[in-house]
Amino acid sequence: MINNSTGSCPCGAVKYQVLGPLRPVVACHCGQCRKSSGHHVAATSAKREDFALLEEHGLKWFSSSAGIRRGFCQECGGNLFWDKAELPSISIFAGTLDQPSGLQLVEHIYVDAKADYYEITDGLPQRQGFSITARADNGQ
Ligand SMILES: [Zn+2]
Repeated sequence: MINNSTGSCPCGAVKYQVLGPLRPVVACHCGQCRKSSGHHVAATSAKREDFALLEEHGLKWFSSSAGIRRGFCQECGGNLFWDKAELPSISIFAGTLDQPSGLQLVEHIYVDAKADYYEITDGLPQRQGFSITARADNGQ
């Protein structure tokens, strides 16, 4: 639905562009997302061929599990990307998009691993583990 989106970390040492659709936003409450974000992650995703880095001097990749890496800014610490090598898409943390994003949060995943200090009260679907939406390689 969105055809030209841009985003960045807070300091601008990582900037990106997506020329193509973005998937609806999925909130991930898993332990990795909790620890790296300080709360939980909300991510969209884009096809690899639609995604381009416009500024990457701050970009650092951390291998978080086999075949999976997380991209963050080593200047300011902003978390931006989740990248599973075998997927045709890259996950982009929705808050890093320049506003308005035009996107909507549609579901929560890994709710079984969420932290104990909050409840999910928005009425959206809550799934244990991964989901169909999160697996989809791009927006509808
Ligand atoms: Zn930065």
